Amino acid sequence: MRVFSDVSSLQQSILQLKDNQKKIAFVPTMGALHKGHLSLIKTAKLHADTVIVSIFVNNTQFAPHEDFNSYPRNLDSDLQACKDAEVDLVFTPESSTIYPQLDDYTHIIPTRLAHSFCGKSRPQFFGGILSVLVRLFNIVTPDIAVFGEKDYQQFRVITQCCKDLFIPTTIIMSPLIREQNGLAMSSRNQYLTSEQRETASSIFKALQQAQLAFRQGEHLSSTLLALIRTHIDPSITHDYLHIVHSQTLKDVQHCDENSRILFAGFLDKVRLIDTMSLFSS
Ligand code: AMP
Repeated sequence: MRVFSDVSSLQQSILQLKDNQKKIAFVPTMGALHKGHLSLIKTAKLHADTVIVSIFVNNTQFAPHEDFNSYPRNLDSDLQACKDAEVDLVFTPESSTIYPQLDDYTHIIPTRLAHSFCGKSRPQFFGGILSVLVRLFNIVTPDIAVFGEKDYQQFRVITQCCKDLFIPTTIIMSPLIREQNGLAMSSRNQYLTSEQRETASSIFKALQQAQLAFRQGEHLSSTLLALIRTHIDPSITHDYLHIVHSQTLKDVQHCDENSRILFAGFLDKVRLIDTMSLFSS
């Protein structure tokens, strides 16, 4: 496994791979890797000859009051995890490489898909994500890029951005990976005590109840949302809870096989997000 922090030597290696007709899959991450990230690497391996992972905590997607400074950073163990997962190349740029001029950089403005949910409570979030991803895609020029279902709105916003900007990378979604108790794996789970992790798993259990009720014939969104609310532990404050159409992300009144639950909330200042399609497991 080779590790690069500068753009030109990474690009030289990528050119060689392309000369050898290698198909490249890219997995962008902010590090603090867990089994959710590793599952993306596995998905990437299924679709390509070479897997490139980036590890970069992207400052432009954090608001000043958010956890950029305290965001977990474990580069040594991340590199070991990538090696164990047989990643080919890792890109670990400095912020000054990606944004030479942080006070005046080209910024990508996302579509309306980014206005609600995570984008409403974090207005700078998706613009920051797209601004780093377009840079990373231009550096890596991957054939495919893999993103997690956990950040479903992010997956939709990125897919739309690549379409709109004619970025010739196929975006693939990889399933959400959970802890044994059902809590969606996240780098931010490191902030939670084991007791809080149990409390947080009530989100998964609540979404499962709605999925079960849907399968048993309850298709009214308001009823399913009320059911979810009663099952989420009351110590978790809700940022948003919606059932939406999986492509448009518009609220639905009557649910069908295209409907998806989106949830975000806080447990003692730790942001938790989760999602579940009503249709599939
Ligand atoms: P992050 O490091 O949080 O920016 O996440 C990098 C990628 O890993 C994103 O595409 C996330 O959606 C994905 N990811 C994070 N957690 C999970 C999870 N529990 N299951 C599946 N994918 C995940």
